[in-house]
Amino acid sequence: MKNKKLIIAIDGPGAAGKSTVAKKLALKLNYTYIDTGAMYRCLALYVYENKIAIDDVASLVDAAQKIEIFLDKDGKVFLNGKDVTKEIRSVEVTKIVSPVSSPKEVRKLFVSKQRKLVNESINGVVMDGRDIGTVVLPHADLKIFQIASLEARVQRRYLENKSKGIDVPYEEIKNDIAQRDYLDIHKDFGALKKADDAIEFDTTNLTIDEAVLWIYNKALELM
Ligand code: C5P
Repeated sequence: MKNKKLIIAIDGPGAAGKSTVAKKLALKLNYTYIDTGAMYRCLALYVYENKIAIDDVASLVDAAQKIEIFLDKDGKVFLNGKDVTKEIRSVEVTKIVSPVSSPKEVRKLFVSKQRKLVNESINGVVMDGRDIGTVVLPHADLKIFQIASLEARVQRRYLENKSKGIDVPYEEIKNDIAQRDYLDIHKDFGALKKADDAIEFDTTNLTIDEAVLWIYNKALELM
């Protein structure tokens, strides 16, 4: 059955290249791409801009209920109608996104938003995050757990920042990524975890295009 529209889940730690790979893969397959990290980053940006305390769970839940997030097909991210594609990648947002996305009630709301986006999609779907294969889409057709060494991830993020004119020292990026990994792995709900039926995929020595092609070929096998 060559025309089967697949649901593909890609999970893994920060800066492992998931979003870049998932976006390119979706384009190649003509599928819908859903970046769940961008959704949590929108909440973190809202929290940051509105000076909400990151341990004030009731206000976090209230914010999660109130905000409107829209992901367009070109990868742009809109928060309450405003294009925040760049802002959600800022150092300030990145520092608070893990705690902001931790409370159970926040996750419940986001998981249901994410499933709704999948249900509404007329295409196949590529969704990336931390808990897609384990919680959001446990019945996904293909589950990838994408990893890369810490050094490779820091190097990639460093170069990405440099190309955008963002100047963050290498050691600071390394500490931030390691700390976010730790927080994401130890969350009580929606923790970063490989699903039992996910394929572990190490991209340390691969280019983006090689990684995309590898997953693409796996997807073709399932169609
Ligand atoms: O993927 P990205 O690095 O943009 O995700 C930002 C943060 O959002 C993660 O570090 C994690 O704390 C949170 N996240 C999550 N569940 C997801 C996707 C992201 O908790 N499905």
